[in-house]
Parts: sequence; structure tokens; C-alpha cells
Amino acid sequence: VNPNRLQIVWFKRDLRVQDHQPLHDALSHTDSEGPVVALYFFEPSLTSADDYALQHASFATECLAQLRKDLAALQVELLVINAEVLPVLEIIRAQWPSMILQSHEETGNAISYRRDLAVERWCTVEGIVWKQTPSHAVVRRLKNRDDWGSIWNDRMQIEVIEVPLPQSHRPNLSKILEALPNNSDFVVLRPGQTDKPLRIVGGRANALALLESFFETRAFEYRTAMSSPLTAQSACSRLSPYIALGVVSVKEILHRLWRARRPDSLRQLASKPDNSLQSISHYLASIKSFESRLHWRCHFVQKLESQPRIEFENMHAAYNGLRPETINSALFNAWANGNTGFPMIDACMRMLLQTGWINFRMRAMLVSFSSYQLWQHWREPALHLARQFLDYEPGIHYSQLQMQSGTTGINTIRMYNPVKQARDQDPTGEFVRRWIPQLQSVPDQWIFEPWTMPLMIQEQLGCVIGTDYPRPVVELEQASKRARDLVWAVREHAQFGSQAQTVFQKLGSRNKQREGTAASKKKARDSKKEKASVANPSEAQLDLFS
Ligand SMILES: Cc1cc2nc3c(=O)[nH]c(=O)nc-3n(C[C@H](O)[C@H](O)[C@H](O)COP(=O)(O)OP(=O)(O)OC[C@H]3O[C@@H](n4cnc5c(N)ncnc54)[C@H](O)[C@@H]3O)c2cc1C
Repeated sequence: VNPNRLQIVWFKRDLRVQDHQPLHDALSHTDSEGPVVALYFFEPSLTSADDYALQHASFATECLAQLRKDLAALQVELLVINAEVLPVLEIIRAQWPSMILQSHEETGNAISYRRDLAVERWCTVEGIVWKQTPSHAVVRRLKNRDDWGSIWNDRMQIEVIEVPLPQSHRPNLSKILEALPNNSDFVVLRPGQTDKPLRIVGGRANALALLESFFETRAFEYRTAMSSPLTAQSACSRLSPYIALGVVSVKEILHRLWRARRPDSLRQLASKPDNSLQSISHYLASIKSFESRLHWRCHFVQKLESQPRIEFENMHAAYNGLRPETINSALFNAWANGNTGFPMIDACMRMLLQTGWINFRMRAMLVSFSSYQLWQHWREPALHLARQFLDYEPGIHYSQLQMQSGTTGINTIRMYNPVKQARDQDPTGEFVRRWIPQLQSVPDQWIFEPWTMPLMIQEQLGCVIGTDYPRPVVELEQASKRARDLVWAVREHAQFGSQAQTVFQKLGSRNKQREGTAASKKKARDSKKEKASVANPSEAQLDLFS
């Protein structure tokens, strides 16, 4: 081992030792490149940003505890540092003039992007090599979107990288530890934040337990149960926060999925007394849907990688100025706290506030309601939801916020009716009553539109609308019509199609079933059929998106 050199493995959104190329490379080259130390940063610039919350720090801390143990088994020390990256690298550099930095590429928010640029400049000036390995199937400086699908396939086919062998010598870090800023203060966060009482707990063991229970039992119901918030909590994999922090890699999950689909695995499933042939075909359909979602994950992160401005700006410029830039605080606060007077919206938001998770369809409904019926810009709601989603992943998040707000120009516009969604996804009102105790005693007939309940009954039940539960903040029919008219008017504009084509070239899916045709066939987009889908998107249409 060359003691005059040091290799730093900088952990970012990749908190695992399995399938970890930078760690593997570093530990394979200790003879020539020096011993290895691992760093993770809670950077105040990121932890105090508007899209970060205490739950993210707590979840990461749980994941880091297990990572620390896994690294210790490899004789690698993990330093978790509450400070900005560059000053710490300078301290280390003063001790080890010869060092190498290894990490995965990160596609994060603008703050992390600027930090990476600063670190890159610093490395160039100091003559330090920073070796970055691609993350999952996200391609840096992708020239042509047409190639992305095959790159995804190629990357996912590669074997899962084995856990490397331990190093024989640890570097002596005592001088660095003395010079590092005081680490006893935990991450600096925005004041007044509390952790979520019902959120999922971090750590690789928990992620693997979910992965196994999904493929062994829960996947049977996945496809049919993913849309209702009543059933989605147990039928969906719930892996998203672990994927967002890289506690398991997408490739690991995909390889597990392929194993589940092998004939021997299916034979074993079929041999269990409860599993009929029909249930095996449900299982196969479910894991196919799940596989597409893993693909979408990288597809959406690729959008942010290719166009970082989508964190701030509409994908299609025709929507600029359409909604007011300044948020209406009364409407926003009602929405953000689950007090809009629409039971399904409020129940979903209240569940999210407590658990840090809600299923895809209900996320889409929450955003659609804010962007269409409340006619608010997506930016402030995006930040609120980023703080609430334990699985916050900027690439998926901003792409979805824009899709559900209709500002991409390349996707079908979908406006959800929260009363219809309630009837479809919570037919008995069980979910609404669970999250809104004030509505416990309201009979089924009024449960999703309690404002229509006669006043006398409201008084009898002790649930007076406007006192015990809010009055609706908007009139649903009028608000929906106004939004529909305004959004469709933008699409009629002469230059709309050519600009949409530009967005499509850079960010659109090349899967013909999805936005490929939507972008190129303006006529189809404007057809009556499509207009009808605005009110009632079917499950099939929900699948046809990217
Ligand atoms: C407005 C909005 C914002 C969203 N923000 C995020 C976010 O910040 N982070 C995030 O991980 N997901 C986000 N999603 C996508 C989706 O809702 C979540 O990934 C999913 O609900 C997570 O639960 P799960 O792990 O049980 O998903 P599963 O259904 O079990 O899916 C498995 C994995 O596939 C990926 N995935 C699933 N659905 C999608 C999708 N529609 N697009 C891209 N990837 C998907 C996720 O990594 C997920 O963990 C958002 C969706 C909407 C509508």
C-alpha cells in the first residue's frame, strides 16, 4: 500500500457497498493508489434548502449506520461530516498532497449541480483526479435521446458488482479528524421541522426485506391494487426512498426481478397451494409493470440531467406566465395542510404529512388539483411535496410536477376530478374516514361532497361544514372548466407544435406507445377523444405516459 497517497470514496446517492463501482475500483487499487477512506456530507447548503426536510436527514442517518458497518467489514472508515465539501477536501489535501476522488455521478438539484462544478474546478486546479462513474442508466452529456433506450438495456445487463475484498491497511486519519470542523452539531435544518411519525425506516436490511416480500407475495396484487391509496401502501414495493438514496441499485432490483421471472422460480411459486395459474399470470403482469417503472425512473432522472432548468422553468415556454408567478397563500396553505374541503385531496395530503408517502395516482391528483382547480404555479407546491416525499428524487419530481401541471407540451393533459377519484379509489369512504376523523360519522351518500349535506344533518352529526371541516376552497365545476379552457387555448397557438417538437427531441420518450406519438401527432392530441380523457383518465392512459 502506498501510504503517501489517499483514495477518497465520496458517497452521495449510493449508500451501499454492493454494486458500487467507485468503491470496488478504489479497493482494487490500494497498492498503487493508496488506502481508502469513505466520506458522506450533510452539506448545510443542501440541508437548509427549501426542498429538504428533517425526515430526509433522519432516514439518511439510518442508512448511514448500516453503511458504516458494511464498510467497517471492508476495513474502510466512514466519516459523516456536517460541512460543505470543498473546505473539507482542502483540509485533507493539506495532509495528503496526492489523492484521488471517486464517486458516482449525481443528478440532483441546482445546488448540488453547482457544488459539483466547483469541486470539478478545484480538482482541475489542484491536479487531482476525480473519477465519476455513471449512476444507474443516467447518461451525462447524452447527445441523442434516440440512443438512450439501448444504453439503458446495455447497462442493466451488466452483472451486479460484487462486494470488494477488505483493504489490508487503513489510512491514519487522526490529523484530518483533528482539523475537521466540529461534527457534534447535527445537520442545520430549517427551524420548526419535525420528523414524520409514520415514515419508513432507513437501512439496507429494511430495503432487502421489502424487496423480498414484494417478489414473494405482494407483487401478486401490485397491478390491480396500486391505484387506490387503501391498497397501494402494501401492494406497491415501497422501495422508492431506498432507491433515491441508492441503498439498493436499480440494477440489483432488476436482476432480482429477472430471477423472479425464471421458469424455476415460477414453478416454485405455482407449487404453493394458494397460487392458481391465474394468479401467476397476474404476478407476471405485475412484475412487468414494475419493470417499466424502474425504466421510467431513469428516464425521468435523465430529463433533469439533460435539462437542469426544468427545476425552475416550464419545459414548454408557451406556458410561461399562464398561471400567476406568486402563490395565493390562502389556497396554498389549505392545500398543503389538507384543508381544502375536498375529502379525497385532504385525506391524501394528511396521509402524506404523517407517512412521507402516497401512491402515484394520488400524487398526480394532488398536483393536478393545485395546478388546475386552484390554478397555482407548480414551483411552490413542488417544494412543499419535495419536503413531504421521503423518496424525493429531483429528476422524477420536477418532470412529474410539470407533467401533472400540463406544462411539458409533450404529454396528454390530465385533470383529475377529486370526487370521482374518491368514488373510484375509496368506494366505501374508508380511506377518507381514516385520515379525516371529523368526517367519521358522515354517511356514505355525502362522504366525498360533505358540503352538499343538509345543514340539519350536519348539526345532528356534529360535523358542520365551515366549522368542523372546511368548506370547499373552490367551486369544482367552474374551476375545472376555467382551467381546461385556459390550458387548451395555449395549445391552439401557432408555434406550439414546433416548440413541443424541440422539447420532445431533448426530453421525450422514444417509446412509441408513449409521448412519441403524442408529440408528433398534434391532430390526435387535439381530438375529441383526447379532450374526453382530460376529465377521466383511465388506468390504461396512466400507463401510457413518460
Ligand atoms: C407529482 C409526482 C411526484 C413524484 N415524485 C417522486 C419523487 O420525488 N421520487 C420518486 O421516487 N418518485 C416520485 N414519483 C413517482 C411515484 O409516485 C413514486 O416513485 C412511487 O409512488 C413510489 O412508491 P413505490 O416505491 O412503492 O413504487 P413502485 O410502484 O413499487 O415502483 C418501483 C420504483 O419505480 C420507480 N417509479 C415508480 N413510479 C414511477 C414513476 N411514475 N415515474 C418514475 N419512476 C417511478 C420508483 O423508483 C419506485 O420506487 C412522483 C409522482 C408524481 C405524480
